[in-house]
Amino acid sequence: MKVVAIPMTTRFRGITVREATLLRGPGGWGEWSPFLEYPPEVAEPWLRCAEEAAAGDWPAPVRDRVPVNVTVPAVDPERAHAIVRAGGCRTAKVKVAEPGQSTADDEARLEAVRDALGPDGLIRADANGGWSVDDAVAAIGRLDRAAGGLEYAEQPVATVEELALVRRRVGVPIAADESIRRAEDPYRVRDLEAADIAVLKVQPLGGVRACLEIAERIGLPVVVSSALETSVGIAAGVALAAALPELPYACGLATVQLLTADVVAEPLLPVDGALPVRRPKVDVQQVGLLSASPERVAHWEARLADVRALREDLGS
Ligand SMILES: [Mg+2]
Repeated sequence: MKVVAIPMTTRFRGITVREATLLRGPGGWGEWSPFLEYPPEVAEPWLRCAEEAAAGDWPAPVRDRVPVNVTVPAVDPERAHAIVRAGGCRTAKVKVAEPGQSTADDEARLEAVRDALGPDGLIRADANGGWSVDDAVAAIGRLDRAAGGLEYAEQPVATVEELALVRRRVGVPIAADESIRRAEDPYRVRDLEAADIAVLKVQPLGGVRACLEIAERIGLPVVVSSALETSVGIAAGVALAAALPELPYACGLATVQLLTADVVAEPLLPVDGALPVRRPKVDVQQVGLLSASPERVAHWEARLADVRALREDLGS
């Protein structure tokens, strides 16, 4: 087991350094990188994903490239413009509803993204559940105009019930993210007709094969998204996107750029707006250079022990 700590290029999701654990098995390396505040019961499916990768147990791909979006954090318009121009993607996913910012800030960011992307690009907005139902209805209308048309609005409100209410009041398609990966029952989104699109992330949902099953049962088009992994973890997301029978939307897997370094020699970076379907080789020297401090390694070893103890308690 190796633990790395990689500074991020931009503060994202409240963090500036991404810590990740790499686990080696007969099938290669897997990444286990649950966010630091997650308790063992939340971090457990993330470990299943790493173990699946280390076992080399991924389904066969049905495509050789995965279209991706550039991800724009809740930054100012100039920076947003630059990120989109540098991203080389035809789709942009823009963070909105950031605490401490206003809808006017979001509008300015979306206008800059449209300007950088040109009229043919697609723009999606991710609110991470930051609005109330009424605020979401008002904001989505404003942001749809500012963006010159939104492809979809991702998780505008926190709960599945609220998502269903918003979906009935706006014309913009709704995507569910947290309502699937952090829910007791991911299929409530389907049962309440709360979303048009399902965002799936391989680590929180227990791996590539587990996500394939959810995709089949949920009956919605899927966008595969990352959890800010290194290229080792991103490769698992790519494996899912490559194995889905249909992939009508660009995926949120071009996030290696948000890290200042990577653990592989050839990172999974987009070429002409798509990621190649391949499993990059871990660069042991890079892993050494990015090693976390002994205190942080001990912290991750303790977390891993906690998750394994939890499994024993559950008798699995
Ligand atoms: Mg999201």
